[in-house]
Order: sequence, then C-alpha cells, then structure tokens
Amino acid sequence: MNRRVAIIGGGLSGLAAGVSLSERGCEVLTLERRNHLGGRAYSFLDSKTGCVIDNGQHLFMGCYRETIAFLKKIGTLDRLEFQDRLRVDFLEKSGQTTLACPGLPPPFHLLAGLIRMKGLTLADKLRALNAGRAIRFSNGIEDRTVAQWLDALNQSARINELFWHPLAIATLNESPDTASAKMLVVVLKNAFTGSRFDSSLGISRVGLSDLYTHSARRYIESRGGEVRTNVAVQELVIENKKVMAAILKDGGRIEADFFISAVTPRAFLEMLPEEICRNEFAQLSRLESSPIVSINLWFDRPVIERRFAGLVGARIQWLFNKDLIIKESKSPNHLALIISAARRFIDLSKEELVEIALEDLRARAPESRSAKLVHSLVVKEREATLSHTPESDHLRPEARTSISNLILAGDWIATGLPATIESAVMSGHRAADLVFDR
Ligand SMILES: Cc1cc2nc3c(=O)[nH]c(=O)nc-3n(C[C@H](O)[C@H](O)[C@H](O)COP(=O)(O)OP(=O)(O)OC[C@H]3O[C@@H](n4cnc5c(N)ncnc54)[C@H](O)[C@@H]3O)c2cc1C
Repeated sequence: MNRRVAIIGGGLSGLAAGVSLSERGCEVLTLERRNHLGGRAYSFLDSKTGCVIDNGQHLFMGCYRETIAFLKKIGTLDRLEFQDRLRVDFLEKSGQTTLACPGLPPPFHLLAGLIRMKGLTLADKLRALNAGRAIRFSNGIEDRTVAQWLDALNQSARINELFWHPLAIATLNESPDTASAKMLVVVLKNAFTGSRFDSSLGISRVGLSDLYTHSARRYIESRGGEVRTNVAVQELVIENKKVMAAILKDGGRIEADFFISAVTPRAFLEMLPEEICRNEFAQLSRLESSPIVSINLWFDRPVIERRFAGLVGARIQWLFNKDLIIKESKSPNHLALIISAARRFIDLSKEELVEIALEDLRARAPESRSAKLVHSLVVKEREATLSHTPESDHLRPEARTSISNLILAGDWIATGLPATIESAVMSGHRAADLVFDR
C-alpha cells in the first residue's frame, strides 16, 4: 500500500523529505503557509532594479554531502559553484590578508594556509597548531562556549579576529561569547579532517528559489505528489498518541498515514494541543534563535573586484559581489553585506544599517569611497537560525517522537550538525527514512 505522508513546511527540510518520499513511491502532500516555498532560504525580485535578491547570502560547503545529493537528484547541482580549494580574502583598514589552503591533504592544507597567512606572528601560528591537536581529540569542549574554549587553548586576539571568530560567527550565527564550542568542533572536523574538497565554499549562481524550490516542487509533482502554498496548518488533532488529522487555518482537514513537521520549533509548538506541548515537548520552548541582517547596496560604478571577502574589525562581517556571483546579473554594482549574530543590529532602522554598511565598506575598500550609492534594500531575518549555545546542544530533539506517526524535521533537530542547510536537508532525509522504519 502507498504510504500517504503530509509534510508541514516547504523549506529545505520539508522539500528534501518530499523529494525522498516521492522517489520511494509515497503519496506526498506538502503544505506551506506562505505564498512561496523556501522558508528561510528563498529569493525574490527587487521591484526597482529587477535583481534577484536572496533573503540572505547562503554559503555551501564541500562537506554538505546530503545537500549535494539532493540538488543532484532534482537536477540543479550545476547551479552551485565550488572553489577548488578554500580561499578567503579578509579586508582590513590596513590592507588585505588571505587564507589560501594549498593542495595538501587535510588538515595540513589548513595548517599550511594559516602558516602562510600574513599578519600572524609565529607564536599565533604555533598556538593554532595546538588548537588543531585539541580538535583531533575534542578535549575540553563539553558545555563550553567558543570564547572559553579558545581561551583555554591560549589563542591570541589576532588569530581569533582573523580565523576563529569569523568561522564561528559564519557557521554558528552566534557570538563566540555564547556559541557552543562543541558545535564549532563539529564544523572543524567536517570541514578540515575529511577530503580537501570538504572545506571548499560553494555559492549559488542563481537566486535561492531557482536553486531548489521550483525543481523540488516539479520533482514531487511529477511523481504524483502535491505541493500547496498559502495553506497553514493550525492544529494537529492527536488521540491515543497518534495524529488523526491536521486542521488547516481555512477549516480544511487533512488525513494521512504519517505527518512530518518541517517547521521551526515555535511553529511546531503552536500546532500542538496545549497539554502535549507541556508534557512531551516542554524543553523546545527553551530553544532560542539568532538574527541575520543583509544590506544590499547598488553603486554607480564597480567598487570591488572580488567575489566575496570577510571584513576584519568591522560590524559587517562579509561582503558578496553579486555581479560576479549571479550568472545573469540584471543590474550592475550590487553588493550584499552581511551581519550575522545580529542581535545588536536587528532593531536599527534601514537608514542606520545602510550607514553602518557604507562606513565599514569605505574604511576597507578604497574604490568604494568615490562611488555613489544609487539604491539600497535591507532584509532582516529575526529568527534566522537556532542560537547554538552549550544549552541548546542538550535541547535539540530526535526526529522520532512519542506520537507514533509524527516525525520531526528541520535544521534545528538533533542531526549532530549546526542548524544549517545541510542539517535541514539531512533532517528531511532522516524523516523520510523513518516513514519506512515503522
Ligand atoms: C539570512 C540567512 C542566512 C543563512 N545563511 C546560511 C548559510 O550561509 N549556510 C547555511 O548552511 N545555512 C544558512 N542559513 C540557514 C538555512 O537557511 C536554514 O538552515 C534552512 O533554510 C532551514 O530550513 P528548514 O526547512 O529547516 O526551515 P524553514 O526554512 O524555516 O522552513 C519551514 C517552513 O515551514 C513553513 N511553516 C511554518 N509554520 C507552518 C504551518 N503552520 N503550516 C504550514 N507551513 C508552515 C514556513 O513558512 C517555512 O517555509 C541561513 C539562514 C538565513 C535566514
């Protein structure tokens, strides 16, 4: 008998689950409350310039194996472009520093990259080697923050500024003072101890929606499944530890053999009856999120020749040159500037954020000083990702729940990875496996 599976949420995790289940012959119904798919990773058109804008620049890594398999299956992997080897330029007020990893086997490629990096003293480099040993044996990380762990490893302010902090903020979207050291070590192990490609960064040459939402939808529909947008699940009816139906906001009722919740923790709790929230999933209300702000700027002339760069000692952490990234860029001289772990910035006005972006950029990219700003667009994602603290490591739930036909997916469940694209896709694949495990 075909299994009927209702998936609530049309982000990466819900679509990955839907694709995997459709491939295996299930009758898939995906329900998404917004008028578009993609959740926290989507794109839209800017009405003034016609440019495709991501809700925030997303970086992929060579170690995102499940994501790469997902994109391959839906036929869009060629829209991602990966570096041959990890290389990141950092712009400082005083000039540029580069982390360029040579063609050595891991982790020696990273160590050699750090050793060659300008602006680090020999003592900084030796301390970094010491941290490399600690990663290998993962000693002293449990329940520590990134800052505490780096202190214990005696890392200098300079190497923190140039390597550890940008890495932690970019991958965990949290300040080193609160971020979980355990999760940073997971990133380091995944990126730097497998193959050399694992640490290479990948960027989409198209808007995020063109990268996966349309193709995933086509994949599901071509196998008899259905993907409905503008459909919000209001409540799950649960009796005797089984979901009997999902009640929709418009009053509709959906019945299925299995229900996969592929929404955020808050949205999941909102769908549950009160007593089940209190008894079975109480710890989820302690999971917090962390914001990201993206400031898109358009100038009257080119201001930077690189595809992307880190900004050192600035409030903006990363800069992306969309002209060189998007394959068919509609309007020239478009930069996206990113502030991750943006709690201090999320409530500032658009004008204040643009001012910050311009100040940080002009202090580090001399060509931008004479360029005139012609347009700007700010995107704030208040609940961009899970806040990865030592406490949240213990609160993330397994995919299997105590409700017999209810399975959890989403970047925030206990995949063993930080809440990223790869965690979302992995959770979707696991949820699909569990449908066949019952
Ligand atoms: C600005 C930004 C930058 C990021 N950068 C990176 C990066 O560089 N690299 C990286 O790996 N990750 C990055 N991430 C994280 C990545 O986007 C997420 O991990 C991923 O998109 C999460 O997917 P998901 O399916 O778990 O959740 P979501 O994308 O949140 O999907 C949940 C979906 O469920 C829907 N929904 C909610 N409630 C209901 C309901 N009641 N009924 C029906 N539908 C409902 C929502 O509308 C949403 O579409 C970034 C995130 C943001 C916001």
